[in-house]
Amino acid sequence: MITFNVPPYVDKAAGYIQECVKNQKICGDGAYTKKCNEWIEERTGTTKCLLTTSCTHATELAALLAQIQPGDEVIMPSFTFVSTADAFVLRGAVPVFVDIRPDTMNIDEKLIEAAITEKTRAIVPVHYAGVSCEMDTIMDIAKRYNLVVIEDAAQGIMSSYKGQALGTIGDFGCFSFHETKNYSMGEGGALLIRDQKDVEDAEIIREKGTNRSKFYRGQIDKYTWINYGSSYLPSDMNAAYLYAQLEIADEINDARLACWNRYYERLTPLADEGKITLPTVPEGCVHNAHMFYIKAKDVEERTELIAFLKEKGIHSVFHYIPLHSAPAGIKFGRFHGEDKYTTSESERLTRLPMFYGLTLEQVDYICDMVIKFYA
Ligand SMILES: *Cc1c(COP(=O)(O)O)cnc(C)c1O
Repeated sequence: MITFNVPPYVDKAAGYIQECVKNQKICGDGAYTKKCNEWIEERTGTTKCLLTTSCTHATELAALLAQIQPGDEVIMPSFTFVSTADAFVLRGAVPVFVDIRPDTMNIDEKLIEAAITEKTRAIVPVHYAGVSCEMDTIMDIAKRYNLVVIEDAAQGIMSSYKGQALGTIGDFGCFSFHETKNYSMGEGGALLIRDQKDVEDAEIIREKGTNRSKFYRGQIDKYTWINYGSSYLPSDMNAAYLYAQLEIADEINDARLACWNRYYERLTPLADEGKITLPTVPEGCVHNAHMFYIKAKDVEERTELIAFLKEKGIHSVFHYIPLHSAPAGIKFGRFHGEDKYTTSESERLTRLPMFYGLTLEQVDYICDMVIKFYA
């Protein structure tokens, strides 16, 4: 069976974790957390990176920093993971869902402006499959309407838009290091902060509302409770696990891209015949091969394709159920405008196996079977 995902693992991780254990330094903000933060800062060019317990928590932290209040509206796509909305619903805000573009499955930047009301406070672009949203347009709208931009870059580490790393363009960017992502620490994430003015507040909210980070740096002689906050620090053991992967981030990225390119090349003839649709990577976008998906004709054909591949020992999956059609989405949010593509395009989409360690021979076999299905 070729499974859909195998969590990334690098041998050195075991030694790094052992080091944490031996030194009895396993709590948050230890040596490996610092190494990960610095690696991400250097690699992306963000002002500040703070490792968190998840991308969900990084987004919650961003919602707190953006001072999202009950009744505020936050514009986002409906075709996304629940966390994109949850972080704002927890603050009492209303997710306002906007339709996606069929080519990238990202929020349609041309529909955002019409969804803005006097209650709108933020835009949350989700970079689906690690392919960037049209950020120039989104940042221009945000500037004109004075809105905060929080990038859900859960899938977007190592990707860029016109040379800028995803997660560094908006006020805040959120990465995920869940085991289904390109780099993993089991559960974990990171908040990227663009502006220096937000750094101190972020450190305080992440440390239960205290100025403990300053205390640890020796900048103050005792720490105290100075704002609301929560606990968003991962254990240094998890950071150690992640750091081993970051050290060879390019190697992992290249291996994934090689698989992605092979899928693309092998399945292009089917796309040319009009039988399937392949993903689009717009000009100026560099992606990280987070996923490879194809789109079938409709939901019936997709169901048959997934069943056929399963018979051939290949685990392929679909997602997402659009948030606006889910019980919580109906309760907490609303869809602005027409759902022209969100539901219909999401029903066509199938994700093929993609992970660090997948071989080109396996990709060839999977492509053979997809081609066989359509023969
Ligand atoms: C994975 C994912 C998340 C959640 O990440 P966690 O680290 O599991 O909290 C949020 N948004 C998107 C788009 C994701 O793919």
